[in-house]
Formats: sequence, structure tokens, C-alpha cells
Amino acid sequence: MAKKKLWRILPVVLFAVLLTVIFVLNHTPEDTFVIPDHIIICLDAGHGGDDPGAVNGDRQEKDDNLNMALAVRDALDAAGHDNLEVILTREDDTPLTLEERVEFANRNKATLFVSLHRNSGGGQGVETWISAAGLKPETALATYIQKNLVEVGVAKDRGVKKGTAGNPKTSYYVVGNTLMPACLVELGFIDDNAADNTLLDEHFTDYAQAIADGILKMVKLK
Ligand SMILES: [Zn+2]
Repeated sequence: MAKKKLWRILPVVLFAVLLTVIFVLNHTPEDTFVIPDHIIICLDAGHGGDDPGAVNGDRQEKDDNLNMALAVRDALDAAGHDNLEVILTREDDTPLTLEERVEFANRNKATLFVSLHRNSGGGQGVETWISAAGLKPETALATYIQKNLVEVGVAKDRGVKKGTAGNPKTSYYVVGNTLMPACLVELGFIDDNAADNTLLDEHFTDYAQAIADGILKMVKLK
């Protein structure tokens, strides 16, 4: 009798296993990167609304991030590729949760995701973060962007980093939960007027172009 029951539920079990396998395959970031025909770049200006991010006097991180996201979009649009679409998590001073940013990128099936931030807390230079997993596509994306920014000129090349500042085994939320290759760029320290803010202001357009070029290198458009 028990054997008979087992045979009856076996198809159900197999079907459940199959569904699980399909789900995992569709929802696990891959170590390989397949470039789709239509490429969607999701730019994420960190913070916004009542969350200014890091602050230095009147200067607020959220504004620097948004201005840079808009400038990177302009640089990508100017590249003039018909199959390249740029989407922004925010285009104005709108507050967004981290979950909303990730949901936006995932729902729109973005090809790549780049989050833009400014650093703070005493330090100098530019760094780019990837997830703790450190998969090849996100490493490539971050490396292209970081290298291009360093070529423009930074106070210090802090490199491509895995995980978070506090723990290499955890990822920044937007990097760790987006389903596409993603990175988070820290465009210098907002509390460093002597070098980082000056460099950002003087090279603003070049920094935007450097980030755009890093992204374009990933997708190898015609
Ligand atoms: Zn930030």
C-alpha cells in the first residue's frame, strides 16, 4: 500500500523538483554573461528625497549621484546605439528604498546595473564595489569603470572591492540582489574638499564618459 502511494505522489515530487531547478537557473546570477539583442542599462543614483546620503556643508551626496547618473545617461545616449536603452531608478529628488531600486532593475530585465555614490568618513579616492561572490561579469564591469576613472585622474585608486566595507562576505543590497551584473561606484569622498570634490567637479563630464565607456566595453556594441 505504501509503495502504491509513493508512485502516486512521485510525479508531483518530480514536478516540484523541476520547478525548483528552473527557478534557481533563472534567478541565480551567472558567472557567464550573455549579451542580449536589446541592451538595457540601469543607472541608480544613490539616496534621494529625505535621505541626503553623506553631507559636506551644503553639498549632499544625493545631488552628486543624480547629476552623475544623468550625465552618464547623456554619454550613453550620445554613443548613438539603437539597441541600447538607458533607464534610471530616479531622475529627480525622489526617495527610493533599496528594495524599490532592485525591483525596478529586475522587473525591467536590465542587462547591467550601475549604482552611483559618494564616499565619506575620512579617506581619499575612488573605489568600485561588487558582490561578495565576485562573479566574472561584475568583476569585468567594475574593472572597466574603475580603470577608466583612474585614467581620467583620481586622488587615489582604491580599486575594485568585493563585499562591503565592513564584511567581505556580505554584499551591498543593490549589488547583491540585482539579477544582472552590477557594481556600485564610490566617486570619491564628499568630505574631502582638498582633492576628491575638486577632481569630481573639474572632471565631471570626463568621469561620466569614463563610466559610460566602461559600460559600453561590456556590451561591445556595433
Ligand atoms: Zn551613498
